[in-house]
Amino acid sequence: MCPSKKTSVVSGFYKLPIEKRREFVAQFANLNEDDVKSFSSCLDLATADRMIENVLGTFEVPLGLAVNFLINNKDYIIPMATEESSVVAAASNAAKIARVKGGFSTTCSEPLMIGQLQLLHIKDVAAAAQKIMQHKKQLLTVANAQDKILVDFGGGAKDIEVRILESPLGHMIVTHLIVDVRDAMGANAVNTMCEALAPVLEEITGGIVRLKILSNLADKRLVKATAIFDKEKMGGDQVVDAFLESYVLASIDPYRAATHNKGIMNGIDALIIATGNDFRAIEAGAHAYAARNGQYTSLTQYHKNKDGDLVGKIELPMAVGVVGGAANMHPKAKLCRKILGVKTARELAEVVASLGLAQNFAALFALSTVGIQKGHMSLHAKNIAVMAGAQGDEIEKLADFLVHDGKVKLDYAKELLEKIRKKS
Ligand code: NAD
Repeated sequence: MCPSKKTSVVSGFYKLPIEKRREFVAQFANLNEDDVKSFSSCLDLATADRMIENVLGTFEVPLGLAVNFLINNKDYIIPMATEESSVVAAASNAAKIARVKGGFSTTCSEPLMIGQLQLLHIKDVAAAAQKIMQHKKQLLTVANAQDKILVDFGGGAKDIEVRILESPLGHMIVTHLIVDVRDAMGANAVNTMCEALAPVLEEITGGIVRLKILSNLADKRLVKATAIFDKEKMGGDQVVDAFLESYVLASIDPYRAATHNKGIMNGIDALIIATGNDFRAIEAGAHAYAARNGQYTSLTQYHKNKDGDLVGKIELPMAVGVVGGAANMHPKAKLCRKILGVKTARELAEVVASLGLAQNFAALFALSTVGIQKGHMSLHAKNIAVMAGAQGDEIEKLADFLVHDGKVKLDYAKELLEKIRKKS
């Protein structure tokens, strides 16, 4: 079972019992006994009570493992926390096809986040904007005084940008504070800096600062991933063409693009949650970025290369951290980072983007061939079987009948369950 060389390729991983899957992960990621035991444990109440307010308990979702990933020539197994069936299997299948032509390649910009300060009640906005830029050095010094640790790590406030916006209330100045947040997601760090800058900006301009908060449109913190999907593995030229025909709708139509990008986020959110990151921040950034040119569109692009293989690309903002926030507080988030073997926010962002591309490829591949329901059906059938009242061995048996008969429906499941029980 254990691979002699460290590879993320495991055939039939889904058929293994949970204990064997844990053995594989333990060996791949050098997990100790306590790590493995903690797969079965819930977040302790004391930690939960420190994380949010009015805690009653914890809420579990399944944690699965996507295999087969080769990213920048390194093998990854990817923990995914999600309630949706088929997502983990689809990602693993896509990664298997991508490996044939070398897996995923990624690039990432510097971890620059944007903090916004909204300045109102200024008579001459152009003159005020100029004054702000003249005080740039002072503003950066004040911002950096808020976070010596970040500065020591090579990060900190790096730049100031000024925008003049028209609004129903008249002109306003929006000052952007550009902060290198290194290995943090950066929201707290940036918000603290913005709040410290507010009185200084008011003094410089004579205006009033209203909002002082991070922007989730982190378009200076972008990650890109690309992969070549082998045409033979996909089923030949016609399948590649069918794939491209399916893809094109997402590039021109927001109704399709929303669902297309949702499919990308199926993978991305699952890893973001597993690593204790802020999935709302990632979602907001992704969708705002998808609409950056005035029309909401696909976050991925595809074309055929000269060999007839399919080339896929994804680009999106990726404000993730390996320090700070819940990433450091949640024991399972730490364990998931250990499984991934990522040490930096940059490496995590690159894995996230690759997973998003894999997820999108898998969905479009299914849609342009057998349709999306086939993959969904076997787990969905089990859920229907449980809803119909099946217990123990009955669940698997009833689900198999439902899939075989092509009728994964509750009324049919109840009818069949009665028959199964009468027979036995
Ligand atoms: P944080 O403040 O907990 O941690 C970041 C801090 O860790 C840095 O400021 C730095 O002082 C320190 N640090 C230590 N080692 C570091 C390293 N190698 N690189 C960078 N920093 C290092 O967390 P954060 O990342 O500033 O904020 C993330 C949290 O903010 C998340 O929980 C998020 O949900 C929340 N949040 C989000 C929003 C939003 O997205 N709009 C708004 C408010 C809060």
